[in-house]
Amino acid sequence: MHRSWVEISRGRIARNYRSVRAAVGPGVEVAGVVKADAYGHGAVEVARVLEAEGAQWLAVSSVEEGIGLRRSGVAARILVMAGFLRDEGEALVDARLTPVVHSVEEIAGLERIGRPIAFHLKIDSGMARLGTRARAKWIASAVAVCRRARLEGLMTHFASAADFSSPQTEEQEARFDEVRARLAEAGVRPEWVHMASTNAVAWDRRSTWRNMVRVGHALYGYVSPARGAAPARVLDVQPALAWKARILAVKDLPEGAPVGYGGSFRAPRPLRAGVLALGYADGLPHRLSGKGKVLAAGKPAAILGPVSMDLTTVDLSLAPELGPGDEVTILGEGLDAQQIARAAGTISYAVLCGISPRVHRVYVE
Ligand SMILES: *Cc1c(COP(=O)(O)O)cnc(C)c1O
Repeated sequence: MHRSWVEISRGRIARNYRSVRAAVGPGVEVAGVVKADAYGHGAVEVARVLEAEGAQWLAVSSVEEGIGLRRSGVAARILVMAGFLRDEGEALVDARLTPVVHSVEEIAGLERIGRPIAFHLKIDSGMARLGTRARAKWIASAVAVCRRARLEGLMTHFASAADFSSPQTEEQEARFDEVRARLAEAGVRPEWVHMASTNAVAWDRRSTWRNMVRVGHALYGYVSPARGAAPARVLDVQPALAWKARILAVKDLPEGAPVGYGGSFRAPRPLRAGVLALGYADGLPHRLSGKGKVLAAGKPAAILGPVSMDLTTVDLSLAPELGPGDEVTILGEGLDAQQIARAAGTISYAVLCGISPRVHRVYVE
């Protein structure tokens, strides 16, 4: 019996992956993004599910994450997307990882390792995060002198692919294609070209799919809502994770009783309170204090007062049959990560990634 745990459905993740493949069609590789412990779902478990589904490519953020997958026996290609440090070059090669390179200097740095390595180059097409803004001719001459380092992929990343009230995605795509065309003129034609992640797939920006897409959020069952005049959504996915916690204690409170730290929250009426065995140290956002809810026997149970580190008090008035040891749903059928994020003033990605390692991961079919 756990205080708090998540149930992760392998079958759902497999079905979501298949849905993405069906949406983009044959000829487009789907790289499964398993960074940040697969958005809290467990990188090794998710990688195994995706490999069993035939995934050829996975993507992580760091060399450390890539090594973790290799040590667990993951054989697929692994793209390291969020940069590497100068002293990680040997480790990249040893673990057969494929780095994303973000500057002309880094191309030379990879070559200096003196061992064969394929890499992908990221173009900053207008997000001003990672990626090079160098002229194509400098990129081409850096690539031309390489003997061991081989440019295998060209990529970029969108800042607002779900926003159809902004031209930013079209502008980024055009800028990327200009660099790509200049590189092609200089004889540089990488075999993989990729820019789309979940939103650009789900919201049918198919001109951006090229021959690879990098999908994370959708694998876990989520697509961000679109803004503006969006086309019909072409991807149907379902959340793969449910989060539960046990009730530790129940008590009846009179109207006006202060609840939790600070004493400023007071019971608005006589109510049945339940003390849950989780808090912000488990990843329940502190910002849900006095705002969020959980589901108790399928009914809403408001969070009363501040979420504390290890404990959270909720209103069990609609589920008086529950007692110590019974479970409540923090996230699950009827209450997804996007609803929690809205209540907490954050995003669903952060809710999922925030579920702390001390919450047990239980895998179900
Ligand atoms: C996280 C990430 C992705 C995946 O994004 P989702 O919205 O989760 O599909 C793709 N590409 C890069 C560069 C990323 O950092």
